[in-house]
Amino acid sequence: TYTLGPKIPTWDSDRKNWLESNAEFPSHVNGKPRILLLTGSQPNPCDNAIGDHYLLKAVKNKIDYCRIHGIEIVYNMAHLDKELAGYWAKLPMIRRLMLSHPEVEWIWWMDSDALFTDMVFEIPLSKYSKHNLVIHGYPDLLFDQKSWIALNTGSFLFRNCQWSLDLLDAWAPMGPKGPIRDEAGKILTANLKGRPAFEADDQSALIYLLISQKDQWMDKVFVENSYYLHGYWAGLVDRYEEMIEKYHPGLGDERWPFVTHFVGCKPCGSYGDYSVEKCLRSMERAFNFADNQVLKLYGFSHRGLLSPKIRRIRNETVTPLEYVDQFDIRRPAHGNS
Ligand code: UDP
Ligand code: MN
Repeated sequence: TYTLGPKIPTWDSDRKNWLESNAEFPSHVNGKPRILLLTGSQPNPCDNAIGDHYLLKAVKNKIDYCRIHGIEIVYNMAHLDKELAGYWAKLPMIRRLMLSHPEVEWIWWMDSDALFTDMVFEIPLSKYSKHNLVIHGYPDLLFDQKSWIALNTGSFLFRNCQWSLDLLDAWAPMGPKGPIRDEAGKILTANLKGRPAFEADDQSALIYLLISQKDQWMDKVFVENSYYLHGYWAGLVDRYEEMIEKYHPGLGDERWPFVTHFVGCKPCGSYGDYSVEKCLRSMERAFNFADNQVLKLYGFSHRGLLSPKIRRIRNETVTPLEYVDQFDIRRPAHGNS
């Protein structure tokens, strides 16, 4: 069967030795594990030019979040393995980054169509010290319902370790495009509740793998739903005004979602489940909702959640450092209102 590359059996000890002899590239910086956020999009332009504009906004949003939180970022547009084109392209790239950046402790995949909407919230990594995969989802939907939306592969974290390489190897075989992917799609549709008939996708394949080999993998998988590592946009984008009125960034859950993910929207091309107009309007709202949190430090805000235009929210001052104390969200004690 298909493989992502030669089987590497000694990664944990190889990586450990490498870290010991390369002290200038530590896996932890200031006591925090080093995180690399990986995102990307197809190698070619969108069918629709506005799609490229929204890809640009989506990457600007990620650059802002990562800069604020000291996370490195990689944008991939290549198909490292032409068999794994499309949504499967994340697998070879995650593996490649683990092997080429042994100093990185966690690789965080995030879809191009997912936006950070809580610029303050940070992943509670210490909670996952005994886990190697952190993914948003619901255990009952996974094991009782076998639902094809039990987990979401739009935003998840892998620890850089042997276990993760092994999981990627076990995950990949349904990916090769053509007859393999098509046939695998039939198995997934037959076994997962609610899944329409289409070729194998990475999300269904992961769910199916974890259900069918539960004992082998699940003790190292953290299924997270106490905050929106992935948040389905449809229930969130219309509530931003209400959130602004009642709550504040830093909560990450339904009160102020960490991530808003545009599942089912395809503004770049192909057929989506929602109209392109509705998707673009909703993405614009999510982007501006997040961007306002960034602009606040600089004294500006969007004129409205649908407006690319901004307005001043406070006057210029001769004592600008007061505002740094108050509004820089990198500072633990900043005012949160
Ligand atoms: N993607 C990629 N290269 C491609 C196609 C997709 O890196 O050639 C990424 C992109 O970030 C996208 C993600 O894979 O958001 C998931 O694919 P897709 O958008 O088709 O699925 P959806 O997000 O709608 O579930
Ligand atoms: Mn997506």
